[in-house]
Amino acid sequence: MISWMFLSTAKRYVWENKYFPTDSPHSLKAILIFSIMGIILLLISALIIYYKILKPTQCPYCKKYFALKELDTEAVGSADVSVKVTTERRDNAGNVVGTQDQYVPGKRITYQRNYLCKKCGESSCGTFTKDKATI
Ligand SMILES: [Zn+2]
Repeated sequence: MISWMFLSTAKRYVWENKYFPTDSPHSLKAILIFSIMGIILLLISALIIYYKILKPTQCPYCKKYFALKELDTEAVGSADVSVKVTTERRDNAGNVVGTQDQYVPGKRITYQRNYLCKKCGESSCGTFTKDKATI
């Protein structure tokens, strides 16, 4: 009985003072900041999801999502660049003791990927690049 009373008082205390401290302007500000941060985080994740997941699957002609079927990928060009290569440093026993970044000559290859829309039948293509060390 006493523990129940304690619990309900504690619950009411937490409920009224911690989660909804509307009487305190300081906490109100904190709630506002947290809500704004939450909204910003939500917006950022929505944008990331849109551009990383939805946008690459959108057909440029009929604007439908998850409509593109990958056909083939071909290299359409290359340029000389320096490529960052991370090498592992090992001790005599073969254990990795650290990593070392190094820039080596390489090629930036431009690929063209062809798509076919499953909804309207139009073909489209997108390009992306990949860096490759040549030595
Ligand atoms: Zn389409």
